Amino acid sequence: MTDLVINNAVVVTSDAKGSVIDKGGVAVENGRIRQIGPADEIAPVAAHAAKVVDGSGHILMPGIVNTHCHAADSLFRGLVENLPLEPWLQTVWQAEGAILNPDTSRLGSVLGFAELLLSGVTSVMDMFWYPFETVAAARQVGLRVSTGGIFFDPAGVTALSIDERVAEARRFFDEFAQAEDVFAASMPHGAYTVSPENLKAAWAVSHECGGLFCTHCAETRAEQLDIQTRYGRSVVRHLDQLGCLDERTVLAHCVHLDEEELDIVARTGAHVAHNPMSNMKLASGFARVPEMLDRGINVSLGTDGPLSGNDLDMWMTLRLAATMHKGFTGRADLISTRQAFDMLTINGAKALGAEDRIGSLEVGKLADMVLVDVKRPHAVPMFDPMTHLVYSTNKSDVRHVFLGGEQVVRNGELTRMSLDDTLATVEDMVPKIAATIA
Ligand SMILES: [Zn+2]
Repeated sequence: MTDLVINNAVVVTSDAKGSVIDKGGVAVENGRIRQIGPADEIAPVAAHAAKVVDGSGHILMPGIVNTHCHAADSLFRGLVENLPLEPWLQTVWQAEGAILNPDTSRLGSVLGFAELLLSGVTSVMDMFWYPFETVAAARQVGLRVSTGGIFFDPAGVTALSIDERVAEARRFFDEFAQAEDVFAASMPHGAYTVSPENLKAAWAVSHECGGLFCTHCAETRAEQLDIQTRYGRSVVRHLDQLGCLDERTVLAHCVHLDEEELDIVARTGAHVAHNPMSNMKLASGFARVPEMLDRGINVSLGTDGPLSGNDLDMWMTLRLAATMHKGFTGRADLISTRQAFDMLTINGAKALGAEDRIGSLEVGKLADMVLVDVKRPHAVPMFDPMTHLVYSTNKSDVRHVFLGGEQVVRNGELTRMSLDDTLATVEDMVPKIAATIA
């Protein structure tokens, strides 16, 4: 029995060939794509499907993968402005410390994840203080999440000892090892906030449990200088010498890498999550993405948190990634449309070690899919659908989203929950949040 058919859409698959079907669709069974093809091949299946969605006037594409986020920081959106990373972080941590507990973290995560899902993001790598609450929020809203135990040497919000952090990370891996909607990870905040010993402890637990390892890396010049002063080597060399780089590693930012560091990242197979919006707003700089791609480094995209955004907009992120390197280098041929779209989708799946399950529309993969409205003034005419997605689409064009075949966004609204209470509760908190840094 076919559970779902979507047909008559322009299908942008993000498969290895970059296939596009001008008018076609997919058939879904048990949460996975069973068939994909031209409309006349899919139409007979639709006759026996439990649910049929007409994709006319839409692009059907894979769910977006956001590989760097702190969604619960949505509570602090717009609170701290016009500062570079280091003093900015100190103020952010002050606000977080005063407001966050498991309940408020979950509230903020729901708010952030709702924004992401409504814009077509079906998987997100999210680093935040209470990882079990992060998973609960993701399940409430309806998207997949990569998260796990946080490592942070200062007290931070949770004030756990290193032994407690290792235990929490291990508990997380144990709980979610088999979950299809969770990609479990160890999440040390960065080399400047986690000692070499504790980075190694975070690495050990993730590898023992077969999980991912994610950390901030070389985001600013000040961070590079700090690590150089403390340890006599740059951030990437430091992580490499500690044995923390391999194909299970996701490095957020990598803005300031020299030639040899680029080679180290390429050699180890570590992935880079590129966050152009955050890097520009916090004046961190321009990551050397074209050179990363030339070296075969897998580069995916991230919004970073909504404190450095100030929203969670992967379409904006995509457009910045596709344009800023052209502007910065004076070379319009850098970052092709296809490279940019891959960064939005399949490269994110690779970073999560999940390219066999998500990131493209292919038979056997989980049916994480997005329908984008292309009957709008900014979408007509459309000579090339992928170019349209990279350079013209914005988040309000996303009308329907499916997670493993389940419709989780219908006509621009969440289906698993109403957001009314979430929005009202957050609005009520505004004076209290503002007072934290007054
Ligand atoms: Zn970050």
